[in-house]
Amino acid sequence: MATVETVRGPVQVDDLGPTLMHEHIFALSTEHVQNYGDGLWWDEEGRVADAISKLRTLHHKGIKTIVDPTVWGLGRYMPRIQRIAEQVDLNIVVAAGLYVYEELPQQYAYRGPGLLFDVPEPMITDFTRDIAEGIGTSGVKAALLKCCVDAAGLTPGVDRIARAVARTHLETGAPITVHTSSLAQSGRLAIDLFRSEGADLAKVVIAHAGDSNDLDYLMELADTGATLGMDRFGLDLFNPTPDRIRTITALAGRGYADRIVLAHDANCFIDYFGAEQDAARAAIMPNWHYTHISDDVLPALRESGVTEAQIEQMLVDNPRRYFSWNAS
Ligand SMILES: [Zn+2]
Repeated sequence: MATVETVRGPVQVDDLGPTLMHEHIFALSTEHVQNYGDGLWWDEEGRVADAISKLRTLHHKGIKTIVDPTVWGLGRYMPRIQRIAEQVDLNIVVAAGLYVYEELPQQYAYRGPGLLFDVPEPMITDFTRDIAEGIGTSGVKAALLKCCVDAAGLTPGVDRIARAVARTHLETGAPITVHTSSLAQSGRLAIDLFRSEGADLAKVVIAHAGDSNDLDYLMELADTGATLGMDRFGLDLFNPTPDRIRTITALAGRGYADRIVLAHDANCFIDYFGAEQDAARAAIMPNWHYTHISDDVLPALRESGVTEAQIEQMLVDNPRRYFSWNAS
């Protein structure tokens, strides 16, 4: 029986249950928080307590697992996540990788094959360590890989990161979630790159595909075997909920429910809005929170003709298949 690593250790894939495949707990710039937020709009204890409360509420709605692809670039900090995981029944699955739209961090610019320090690709070394040994000294192992191919496309930095992710996937078996821009339809670039590296496209989630209502684009991606991340429910400024529902219903009707996963790409706190966070959320994205799918989206999908079996595929079967790679 395959197991999947979570913040509290391995669980059987059959025990993942209903899973939201792309949620953050925090999305932060550590330097922003430390220099401009600490003691002002950032209250560590208050934020931890708030996250525990929000995740407990989500668990009470019947969701058993969230996948949190918060990596370097989004403020991954495992000790804080461990404190939270200890106090909620929800499984939290975490990732290795980099959140970068264009430029490689300087920390990888001088090390690597053919560079000043001619060593094996250090990103592969670091990602593999996260997966095989654990993140830092936390003991928590990453269970998936994350990178971005956004509107800027395959810049030299993005290309190198994505290839390091693909090669780590080939060496470890860990599946991939790639952030994409549906406006730029950059999912195609990601698929082509992963294919050129020999990656198993059935182990790739094209995150944020659900921002698109272009069925031709979405079917083209899914026809490669990749899974569509319909994972920004509540971010109505990118695509309103009724349109997202219509698109999923159309795809399910054409036989694609086995290649769709659901989520909000929400968080308990994101520092993009600084002290204006609560006002920004209330004003422009009132539905951008963890329980919009349970409360509103699933009823709307049923109403529009998506069957219970198809919902089960999107919430349970597809996540289980995605994480069925560690047979130990
Ligand atoms: Zn995200």
